[in-house]
Formats: sequence, C-alpha cells, structure tokens
Amino acid sequence: MRSELYIDGQWVKPVKGGTCEVINPATEEVIHRIAAATAEDVDLAATAARRAFDRDGWPKLTGAQRAGYLRAIADGIRARQAEIARLEVLDNGKPFPEADWDVADAAGCFDFYAGLAEQLDNNPEEAIALPDARFTSKAVREPIGVAGAIIPWNYPLLMAAWKVAPALAAGCTVVLKPAELTSLTALELAAVADEAGLPAGVLNIVTGAGSIAGQAIIDHRQVDKLAFTGSGPVGSKIMAAAARDIKRVSLELGGKSPFVVFEDADIDKAVEWIMFGIFWNQGQVCSATSRVLVHEAIYGRLLERLIEETNRIKIGNGLDEGTLLGPLVSKRQYDQVVAAIEGARKAGATVACGGTRPQGFDRGFYLRPTVLTDVPLESDAWKEEIFGPVVCMRSFKTEEEAVELANDSRFGLAAAVMSKDDTRAERVAAAFRAGIVWINCSQPTFTEAPWGGYKESGIGRELGRWGLDNYLETKQITRFASEDPWGWYIKPEAA
Ligand code: NAD
Repeated sequence: MRSELYIDGQWVKPVKGGTCEVINPATEEVIHRIAAATAEDVDLAATAARRAFDRDGWPKLTGAQRAGYLRAIADGIRARQAEIARLEVLDNGKPFPEADWDVADAAGCFDFYAGLAEQLDNNPEEAIALPDARFTSKAVREPIGVAGAIIPWNYPLLMAAWKVAPALAAGCTVVLKPAELTSLTALELAAVADEAGLPAGVLNIVTGAGSIAGQAIIDHRQVDKLAFTGSGPVGSKIMAAAARDIKRVSLELGGKSPFVVFEDADIDKAVEWIMFGIFWNQGQVCSATSRVLVHEAIYGRLLERLIEETNRIKIGNGLDEGTLLGPLVSKRQYDQVVAAIEGARKAGATVACGGTRPQGFDRGFYLRPTVLTDVPLESDAWKEEIFGPVVCMRSFKTEEEAVELANDSRFGLAAAVMSKDDTRAERVAAAFRAGIVWINCSQPTFTEAPWGGYKESGIGRELGRWGLDNYLETKQITRFASEDPWGWYIKPEAA
C-alpha cells in the first residue's frame, strides 16, 4: 500500500508531514496511514500541472499520442486488476466481485477515452457557414487547462477514471483528490500512470481532508476547471468558489431516484432489479433507486417476495466468497444511515425488514438491508438521500400519480420504469425529469452513454463524448478573406 503524494512525477511526503488513518470497514482496524496534504502540497501539484500544460507540451501532443498513454494506463490497471480490486475491498468494504467489476470498468474508461482522443485528431476543425462572403470562420476545440478533480468514496478508482481519463484525453493536466476514506486505489492509479511513462506533472494525486486539501484545490488560481462528485453541500461550495474565480465546473451530486413498477411487470424480475437498484454497493450509489413505486395490483405480492429475497442476501466481509452485501464505508456513514432509519420510524414508517446490525457481526459497519413501507411523503426518509441499503416502498393507482410522485423531488439524477408495454415505458421515460432513465432495469452504466443529473443532482454530463466536452473549450477563428478595405473609419477613395 502506498502512502505518499504523487506530485510532478515523484512520490513525495507532504510538506507538513501529516497523515490520516485508513480503516478497514469490515474489521474497524487501522490498516494503513496515508499522507494528509495541505495547501502547500496542493500548490506544488497545481504548479506542476500548470507547467505540464503551459510549457511541457501535453496539450500539444496529438490525440493519438495521448491515446497511447491512456491505453498503457488501461493495460496497467488490467495487469493488476485482482490486486487493485482487493485494495478497494479493504478500503471501501464492497464485495470483491463488485470491486473487480469497477476496476475492469475503470480500465475500459481509459480505453474508451483513448478512442475519443484519437478522434480529436481526425476532426479538429469545424467550418462555419457565414452570411458574409468576405469572412471565413472555423471552430476548434482546445483543452481547458488544469483540471482539479475531487471524488467520493463509493467508487474510488472508477470515479478517478471518470475524471482523469477524459481530462487527459482532451489534453488537460490534472490534480486529483480522492476521498480521505478511500485513497488507496487512486494512488495505485498514479503508480500505473508512472509505469506507463506519463510525463511528470500531467497527473498529480494529493490525498487528504476535503476541508484542507480539497478546499485548496478549489481555491487555487492555477486550476481552470473543477470536476466534482459527492454531496450537495460540498457541490454548492465548489460552485461558489468556481463562481468567484470564473472556473469551469461540472458537478455530480446526490439523488433520491424513483423506480416505477407497473402491474404487467414480472414480479421476480422486478424484485431483482429493485434489489440491484438499492443494495448494490451497500446502497452507497448516487443513482440508487431508493423510492420504489409499485402498482397497487401487485404491491402486496411484490413486497412479500422483496422481503423474502432481501432477508436472504449474504452479508459479510467483501473478501469472503459469496458475500453480496459488505459493511458501509465508515462509522460516520453507518451512524447516519441508522439515524435515517430511526427518523423514518419516528415519522410513522414501518421497517418491513432489516434496520439493525446483522447477528454475529460485532465489529465492522454492517447493516441489514432494509425495506421501509408506509413512508410519509413529507418525511426525510422519502425526500432525502440516505446513501445506504434502505429502500422506501409505496403503491400507486394510476400512471399520472406514479409520474407525479416520481418527479416530486428536488433531485433528478436517475429514474427507472418497468413494464411489458413498451409504449407506456417510453411515455413514462419521457415524462421523468431525470438525466438517466432505465427501462426494465436499474443501474447498468455504460462508459459510452451520458451520465449526470437534472435539478439539484448536478451540472454537466460525464462519460461518453459528453464527458470529453467537460474538459474542452471552443475557440472560433474568423478570417477577413477579402482584399477590399473595411471602410468604416477610413473610407475607400471614390473611384
Ligand atoms: P463529501 O461531498 O463530503 O465528499 C466528497 C469529496 O469532497 C471528498 O473527496 C471530500 O474530501 C471532498 N470535500 C469535502 N469538503 C470539501 C471542501 N470544502 N472543498 C473541497 N472538497 C471537499 O461527501 P462524503 O462526506 O464523502 O459523503 C457525504 C454524503 O454525500 C453521503 O452521505 C452521500 O449522501 C453523499 N455522497 C454522494 C456521492 C455521489 O456519488 N453523488 C458520493 C459520496 C457521497
């Protein structure tokens, strides 16, 4: 396990020597210590990134040359996939097969953006038709500059890939701060990039507290663009800092996403997708479909099957064979989720299953997967993100009611609908006010498709070609192509 900062192509100790603990959420043991960066370290990282951008020529490389580095990083990740996935489990708690999937996805993300980097070479200029024949004009895309990326703890390596891969593909240089709870695999990414020969300063990784290292990134004048995934309140701070300095900003924040199940849905299929929508990664997923609306004709039967299957989920250490639900990421997260369940109970909800520590688990931040029913519409449990394995169930009578309930949220990240009637599913998909809509499933995520939220769930889109746009500026180059004088101040002599 690495513990130093990766700045300007070197592994360095933080200027002030601080460290933070790495705790295994499955055992509550301190398993390592990592560097706690301060503003001094961030300054070194941002200065290195600035130099790599302005003087060392990273943005001047062809897209194909940058793609070569990205592909080497993808290969480097894959070469150590199992080892990196194991670190992710120790750090975050998620079951190994999920971590393994994330690591493969992260490698795929680097490959995908390598392809887009190459396309930048083929299509660098767009001619613009003008209504005045004396002028010609074209638009070109150029990298924004130094990107400051700040990411959460729920998908540590994958969130790093979602930001680093498109930024490097576009020609930006990066200062990345992983979440203080889960920095181990981001440091491995730096090691892989180093082995791939990425030029010094192009990617810098600073670990440490959000309020210190994160704040220093968002305040740094050499950083041109802020890319953030995490909570709404921090997103709001980042946007305020960006507004002050006119930095470019993209935000991916939380959600309280709905899943509407119609009466023609197959109950077992619906139950499995509901479970995948809220118990995958212990429910610590921004797009988790945590509010499930089921047509009243099948509500009772579906609820019964859901409780039965939920009680069967194998809870355990993410490294143990067969584990499907690991511990929550931290004591703080565990306490918050337990408090949310308690709040729901006080507001009048029924805990239909779960809600407590599983038997036989004295240590570790384990919580049984939880199904809540009778959740009042005005309660926090219905309206606010819980970010744990807790689903709120409710029945509806009509499609209009379901859509209205689904959209009645300040968030708009994702939404899902299940029905055998394709016309109805498409109609409901169109009516959802959300950036990501799933039909007959919940959560599958593809690097090729745009990812991001409506309303308070964020600004901008990651992934796909939209993810590249986050790191590109647009420049117009307009030429006066006529031999004639302009003739505004200096009138052409009368012929
Ligand atoms: P957070 O928003 O506090 O942290 C996310 C990242 O921002 C971390 O790297 C953190 O160090 C950094 N950060 C914190 N304060 C900062 C500041 N002032 N300036 C710059 N960076 C700062 O999220 P959290 O504490 O990890 O989790 C809190 C809640 O956020 C969760 O309970 C959940 O509701 C939500 N969350 C959402 C997502 C998501 O994917 N949308 C992911 C994780 C957490």
